[in-house]
Amino acid sequence: MILLEIDRQVHLALPDSVFYRAAEACLRVMNISSPCSLSLTLADDSGIRHINKTWRNTDKVTDVLSFPSLPVTPDALFHEQDEKTQQAWDSETGAFFLGDIIINVHQASKQATDYQHALFREMTYLFVHGMFHLLGYDHINKEDKTTMRNQEEKALQMAFETKVSDEELLQAAREARAFAHTPYSHYKVGAALLCTDGTLYTGCNVENASYGLTNCAERTAVFKAISEGNKTFEAVAIAADQTAPWPCGACRQVMTEFAPKMRVLITWGENNVEKTTLDALLPHGFLGFEEDQHG
Ligand SMILES: [Zn+2]
Repeated sequence: MILLEIDRQVHLALPDSVFYRAAEACLRVMNISSPCSLSLTLADDSGIRHINKTWRNTDKVTDVLSFPSLPVTPDALFHEQDEKTQQAWDSETGAFFLGDIIINVHQASKQATDYQHALFREMTYLFVHGMFHLLGYDHINKEDKTTMRNQEEKALQMAFETKVSDEELLQAAREARAFAHTPYSHYKVGAALLCTDGTLYTGCNVENASYGLTNCAERTAVFKAISEGNKTFEAVAIAADQTAPWPCGACRQVMTEFAPKMRVLITWGENNVEKTTLDALLPHGFLGFEEDQHG
């Protein structure tokens, strides 16, 4: 069991569940069954620089920082007689406090672009890296680095294998709504696209002064995925405030190109949810000029 206290100093269009999933995977890799807690801060360049300067005397921007509360090696951790482990017990939360992780969301976003993968992947990787530091790993010498990297790989695989639930996908869409650029309609929409490899891409609607150039949240998410090489979609969740955000005709056709049978989930207002499939929303979608495509 893991408890996370998350301080979102900057907005991130990913739900808390992304970090819960990754934290649980790390604990499983370590065979830790004791209840644990940690604090996670999502910061920007200046926020992480300030923390780095204050606590590490390093006046630099970085991607991730971690401050373990248990100064022990991984194999001593959670041994019943280990005194240091016992000191980390927090009777208020009923869990062992592992320490603090600070992730720079802006740097993560730059790195995701450089490595050509989703922000979801980069954030998960940075969190897992911080998590293993809290669990006593280090990468000062080459051997330690390899050991830590192996643990990270196992945890990442486990985290990405776990299926994203419908509720998580809906929550990701709700989070993505905050970025919507809607000075004209004020109708904010967020979308979260789930690929078959477990990767999530989020999107929001982007309006334009010309009105006609507006792009919907679903298409923003789809184009993000395609532009990063991911074309196999499983489901899309779409969130709006007041009325049911069924995808418009343009989005239905664009999504049909890649996954005609994908699941479509919408949510609005106080937790109203409806679920269907794309082929129910767009029967006989246009699939190309070939006369007999499936013949
Ligand atoms: Zn649309």
